[in-house]
Amino acid sequence: MIMPAFTNPTDIARETLKALAARRIAPNPENYQTIYNEIAGIPPTDKQAKEGQVSPKSAARSDANWAELIRELIRQWDLKQSGVTASRKKEGLARVLSNFAKDSAVLHTKLQALVGSWGEKVAQAGVPVDGVEPEAGVQLGPAAIAPEPVAGVEISLSDVPGALREMLAQTIQTGVAPRLSQFPDLRDEAILLAQQAREARDTLTIQGLAKKLKQFWIKLELRNDSDAQVLDGLVRLLRLLVDNISELLLDDKWLTGQIAVVQDIISQPLDSRVLYDAERSFKEVIFKQGNLKHSLMEARTTIKNMMATFIDRMSEMSASTGEYHSKIEIYAAEISKTEDINQLNQILGNLMKDTRGMQLDMMRSRDELEKAHLQVKDAEEKIRQLETELDHVSELVHEDHLTGTLNRRGMEEAFGRELSRADRLNSPMCVSLLDIDHFKRLNDTYGHDAGDDALVHLVRVTKEALRPSDVIARFGGEEFVIILPDTGMDEAVKVMTRVQRQLTKNFFMHDNQRLLITFSAGVALRGAGEGAESMISRADRALYQAKESGRNRVLPAD
Ligand code: GH3
Ligand code: MG
Ligand code: MG
Repeated sequence: MIMPAFTNPTDIARETLKALAARRIAPNPENYQTIYNEIAGIPPTDKQAKEGQVSPKSAARSDANWAELIRELIRQWDLKQSGVTASRKKEGLARVLSNFAKDSAVLHTKLQALVGSWGEKVAQAGVPVDGVEPEAGVQLGPAAIAPEPVAGVEISLSDVPGALREMLAQTIQTGVAPRLSQFPDLRDEAILLAQQAREARDTLTIQGLAKKLKQFWIKLELRNDSDAQVLDGLVRLLRLLVDNISELLLDDKWLTGQIAVVQDIISQPLDSRVLYDAERSFKEVIFKQGNLKHSLMEARTTIKNMMATFIDRMSEMSASTGEYHSKIEIYAAEISKTEDINQLNQILGNLMKDTRGMQLDMMRSRDELEKAHLQVKDAEEKIRQLETELDHVSELVHEDHLTGTLNRRGMEEAFGRELSRADRLNSPMCVSLLDIDHFKRLNDTYGHDAGDDALVHLVRVTKEALRPSDVIARFGGEEFVIILPDTGMDEAVKVMTRVQRQLTKNFFMHDNQRLLITFSAGVALRGAGEGAESMISRADRALYQAKESGRNRVLPAD
C-alpha cells in the first residue's frame, strides 16, 4: 500500500478534482469517491474492486487514454528533441515505471507529464540548416534565429546534413504548423514544406526549398498583417456601433435592424475587406435609416395634423345636429394616441365609413375651400410680382441713371455702412470731392449730349483706377464723391492722382476728336467720430482751393 501524499481533506478534494480532469474521468459521485479514496489511501470497497476503479464508462475512457498515451509516447520517443537525448528518455521512463507502476492512475498521470515534457522541447528546437541560409529580408521566427547548442539532437558525424534537414523539418512541422490552426492552407503548406525539407538531398532541390520557404514566410507575414487590419476594422466597427447606439435607442425597432446587420457581418468569416465593406454599408444603413426615420416622423406628423383638421371641420359641421358628434370625438382621441401610420390609415378608413352621410356637405365645403385656396394662390403670386418690382425699383433709386454710379441716396447709405465699419475696426477713412474743370465750356462747345458722354467716360476711367472697396457716387452735376475706406490721407491723394493720370491717358473721344478732361479734387481724412456732411464740406473747401490754384490738381483738406 502506498503512503498517501495528502492527509488534509481539503487537499485531497483538490487533488481529486485535478486527477479527474487530468485522467479525463467523468466527474460523477462514484468516480469522485473512488479517486478521493485512492488519493486519501482508503482501500476500495468490494463492490468498487469488482467494478474496477472507476465506473465502466469512465474505465473505457481511461483505457482509451492509455492507448493515446502510448501512441504519443512512441511518437515522442522516435522524435529528436533538443535537450532530451534518447538515454535521458530511457532514464526518465525507467524512473516513472519503477516509482508508479503499482498505481495505474498515477502512472498514467506521471507518464503523461513525462511525455509532455519531451514534447515541449520540440517547440524550442530549431537550427538554421546548412546551405539553406535565410535570404536577406526574410525574417525567421525567434526559435530559428537563436541557434541552441545541438546537444539535444543526436548527430552522427557521418550524417550532419541529414540531421540538419531533420531539424528544419521538425522546426516547421512541430514548431510552426500547429500555430497555424487558424489558417488551414498555410498549415498544410508548412507540413508539405517539412516533408520536402526531409527529402531534400541535392543542391537544386534545397535551393528550390529555400525559395519556397521565403515565399511561405512572406505569406505568413502578410497574413499577420491582415490580422492587424481585421482587428483595426473590428475596432472601428465597434466604435461606429457605439457612436450610434444612443441615436438608435430612441426607437428599439431601429436598434433591432442595426443589430441584425452587425450579426450578419459577424457571422461570416472575417477578413479586412469584408469588414471594410461591412463598415461602409453599415454607415450607409445608418445614414439612410436616419433620413428615413426623419421623413417618416414628418409624414406621420403631417398626416396627424391633416386628420385633426379634418375632424375639426367635421365636428364644426356636425355640432349643429349633434348627429356625429360623439363618434368624431372618439376618433379624435384615437388619432391623438396613435404613433403608427398603418393605424392612422385604419382609423381614417373607419372614419370615412361612419361619416359617409356627411360626404355631400364635405364636398360642398371642399369646393369652397378650393376656391379660397386658388384665390390665396393668386394673391400670393401678385404679391410676389409686386415684391420683385419693388426690389428692382429700390435698387434703381440708389443709382444715378446716366453714369451708373450711386446717387445721393445710395451715397448716404454707403456712408452709413463705411462710417460704422471704420468705427468698428478703428480704421482710417478718406472722402474726396471732385469737380470737372471747365465743364460748362465743354457743354457749350460740343453740346449737352457730349457733356453727358464725357460724364460717363469720366466715371468709367475713374472706376478702373479705383480699388474695389472704394465707392463712387454722383454728388450732383459734374461733381462726384469718392469714399475711400481703410485709407489714410497720403494714400487717398495718391489714389486720386492716379485717377487724374488715367484720364490723361484715356482721352474722351467725341466725333473722332480726342478731348482731354481734367478735374480738381479735395481730399478729407476723417477726424475722430466725424460724420459724412462735415467731411464732404471740408473736402469741398479743399476742392475750391484746387480750382483757385489753377485746376487739374488734388489738394488735401485741413
Ligand atoms: P469749374 O468747375 O472748373 O470752375 O468750371 P465749370 O464750367 O465746371 O463750372 P460749373 O461748376 O459752374 O459748371 C457746371 C456745369 O456743368 C453747369 C452745367 O451746365 C453742367 N452740367 C451739370 N450737370 C450736367 C449734366 O448732367 N450734363 C451735362 N451735359 N452738363 C451738366
Ligand atoms: Mg461744378
Ligand atoms: Mg466744374
